[in-house]
Amino acid sequence: MRIYTFDTTLRDGTQGEAVSFSVDDKLLIAQKLDEFGIDYIEGGWPGSNPKDKEFFARAKDLRLRHAKLTAFGATRLARNPVHADASVLALVEAETPVVAVFGKTWDFHVRRALGIELDENLVLVADTVAFLKSHGREVVYDAEHFFDGYIANPDYALKTLEAAHTAGADVLCLCDTNGGTQTPRLRDIVGEVRRRFDGVIGIHPHNDSEVAVANALAAIEVGATHVQGCMNGYGERCGNANLSAVIANLELKLGHTTVGRERLTDLTAVCTFIAELANLPLRGDQPFVGKSAFAHKGGVHVSAVLKDSATYEHIPPKLVGNRQRVLVSDLAGRGNIMYKLDQHGLASRLDENARRALLDRVKQLEYEGYEFESAEGTFELLMREALEPGRRFFDVESYEVTMRSAGADGPRATATVTLRTDAGPVSTTAAGHGPFNALHECLCKSLATLYPQVANIRLTDYKVRVLDSYKGTAAKVRVLIEWSDHQRSWSTVGVSDNVIEASWRALLDAFSLELRRAQDSAPALAPAEA
Ligand SMILES: [Zn+2]
Repeated sequence: MRIYTFDTTLRDGTQGEAVSFSVDDKLLIAQKLDEFGIDYIEGGWPGSNPKDKEFFARAKDLRLRHAKLTAFGATRLARNPVHADASVLALVEAETPVVAVFGKTWDFHVRRALGIELDENLVLVADTVAFLKSHGREVVYDAEHFFDGYIANPDYALKTLEAAHTAGADVLCLCDTNGGTQTPRLRDIVGEVRRRFDGVIGIHPHNDSEVAVANALAAIEVGATHVQGCMNGYGERCGNANLSAVIANLELKLGHTTVGRERLTDLTAVCTFIAELANLPLRGDQPFVGKSAFAHKGGVHVSAVLKDSATYEHIPPKLVGNRQRVLVSDLAGRGNIMYKLDQHGLASRLDENARRALLDRVKQLEYEGYEFESAEGTFELLMREALEPGRRFFDVESYEVTMRSAGADGPRATATVTLRTDAGPVSTTAAGHGPFNALHECLCKSLATLYPQVANIRLTDYKVRVLDSYKGTAAKVRVLIEWSDHQRSWSTVGVSDNVIEASWRALLDAFSLELRRAQDSAPALAPAEA
């Protein structure tokens, strides 16, 4: 069946504590969701803040090919006639084809929050929906707290739906606003509403009990055909139903159509794009689209997955635009190493003894605190070194760093590095903002004449983790650095009880890998860790 998707990332999603989008971000996301095939894009609440007002003003220039832009707001205030209610008028002024308007369903809320009589609330609902319909809008009526309201007073909850329905609402959307309704109960209630009303029934579940996606799917099972949620599950408190998971489940497991199977292959890219604009990491374990969703670590799993990926994967990852990853770790067996060698086109170039030696080296380094799961660059370097153990581009003879803080100038660092290179010994001194910056400068200067490409290597992220915290400030640390050369990105890792030494090792790996890649005829890691 065709199920209509209603994305509220730009409205409910931004009510999440960590989520904030600029107006420009919101316009870019709306465009992306449209290209992906979302049916409704709720852009914000024009009556509530200047940012959303600006969004709707600028959204008039958006060229949406498929999606209907939706403005969100509330039923009129009890003291205003509908045609004089500023918030309702702002909805009309947003000039969107669709308006989503929420009203009170729960008698407790009507009396306590609005402080009005139950019958008067029915008039607010009917008035507002009818007014918006008279302005030619498609109206999605969001029945706030529908499930809590129904459980408390089913007759009254149904009366509020009746008021919206009679006034012409196109969709009756049932909201689990507090996100606490359990799936079997929710399913029964949606089924009851389905029996009583014709037209489109929608579902808007929140995730406070971690069952929002299940609740969305259960509602659809009993007749809802309109589903609201947010990409990546963003939203107030614990978030909304994760629309990316809802869509993937509907398309791949339940035989329904939303964006269509072809566009579904963009799912991972869409979720990643939105996470980047939200400046939040895409959760690694996010179903379908996270980078760990099809990652295999245990040796037994890996050897089975290499025979047939269906052994440990519920769907082929390419259906949602994700990919299988095999992680290198101390749980790894030969299978993981073989997979990686294959991925780099190096398998046939390493004999059995060299493979065993490589595996032993990986295990020894992991024992020392190295971790290769998120440092595929260092691992690639180990593989390339195993291929050509004698080849060295440079060796470090010595390095020295000093730091000095005097007066108002703040601290400055100076480093001196001496290398042995193909062109003989090279010694360089450079200043930097900090010791690591000074070392990086030295290495660039030392190698720039011989290997000009090193000038393109820049740091994009830096993380440090304490490995044995009981040693206090003498503890060993693991430094993980992400690099980019404008074409690809990769990560390297260094471990030491000295944070500068650990960073230095990760830096040397980044440079050595760049030089080996340029020289080796074997292809580089194609799907980099970007
Ligand atoms: Zn909500």
